[in-house]
Amino acid sequence: MFDLKSHLDRARQLWRTLAVRLFISYCAIVAAGVATMLVVVDLVSPDVFAAHMGGTMPGGVPAMVAHSQELDAALARTFQTAMSQVLLLAAVAALVTAIGASLLVSASVAAPIRRLATASRRLAAGNYAERMAPHGGITELTALSTSFNEMAANLETTERRRLELLGDVAHELRTPIAALEGYLEGLLDGVVESTPVTWARLHAEASRLRHLVDDLQELSRADARRIPLDPRPTDPGAIARMVAEAMAAQFEERRLAFVTDVPVGLPFIHVDPDRTVQVLTNLLTNALRYTPAPGEVGLAVRVEGDAVRFVVTDSGVGITPENMPRIFERFYRVDKSRSRALGGSGIGLTIARALVEAMGGRIRAESPGAGRGTTFTVMFPSVRTAS
Ligand code: ADP
Repeated sequence: MFDLKSHLDRARQLWRTLAVRLFISYCAIVAAGVATMLVVVDLVSPDVFAAHMGGTMPGGVPAMVAHSQELDAALARTFQTAMSQVLLLAAVAALVTAIGASLLVSASVAAPIRRLATASRRLAAGNYAERMAPHGGITELTALSTSFNEMAANLETTERRRLELLGDVAHELRTPIAALEGYLEGLLDGVVESTPVTWARLHAEASRLRHLVDDLQELSRADARRIPLDPRPTDPGAIARMVAEAMAAQFEERRLAFVTDVPVGLPFIHVDPDRTVQVLTNLLTNALRYTPAPGEVGLAVRVEGDAVRFVVTDSGVGITPENMPRIFERFYRVDKSRSRALGGSGIGLTIARALVEAMGGRIRAESPGAGRGTTFTVMFPSVRTAS
């Protein structure tokens, strides 16, 4: 598990050693510079000085100016002593500059690191709105602040989604549980009669709860991208015909015309056949739910370039442009009471989209508006032509 405290301790330790190291490295540079100067002065200056005194160097003491060997030696000693003193002074000045520079640099590095450590602590304590102010100085520290802000934003979104999900789940569970409770209380008080109809209603509420829990489990797997998939080259025509056959009776029962248009010899698609059946069944169940009789629902398969499209159309209630962008969101229902009454959980399309995208496809919905029907298109790239 990620242990923030030990990371922070390590960061603080690093800062201490960073400051010390910076100072030591500055001092080492100064020391190396001074030592080099001292050696060069010690080795080279007597010869250079002598050359100057001998008049062999341009600007040196001219030969006609009389000077004895003792005088030369005394001058050389004096010159070297003066040089050493000057160098010592320069070394002290350089050392002071090094201390100042190292303090300045480490302060400019340490301040943002300290701010980051405080921000991380607050984030770990659950303050997900925590952000680092932009750092205009060192590039690496700017990148660190940016990554921190990205991490904080992701954590904030995840936390918000988690809270929303908990609220939604509680809300969704409350309705069937309240209905069950009502019937059971009525039975206990003798207000509701113990007839087969009552037991059938109780059974219907219990199975609604089970469906909801099953959908929630599927949704959590889809969110975590853990839905087991077995993709293989599949004939889209065979899938469409299988789904149409399984659903036909339900359309007949609801007195809705069900029109299929599935050509033969379609190119294959690389999908999990069972999951593709699940997606199409979901779309057709929705069409069944949201199309009042008399109406028409269609299932077609079309080839468009390198893609195969399943098209589910209905002449039902349609979707308004305001609601359209939200229908794939979990628990989003245009008409909550209608969807619930028809057994909808508001999760079906979220799962359908997760499945389609996990298999490399795309799903989209279109509707000319309320009362004017809806078209869902599921598109997969084709892999090869059927022989
Ligand atoms: P539900 O279980 O409520 O049907 P879905 O996730 O399957 O949940 O769909 C989300 C919402 O999108 C539905 O509540 C409904 O308002 C809208 N919707 C889905 N399919 C259709 C359709 N064919 N016609 C009209 N509205 C639809």
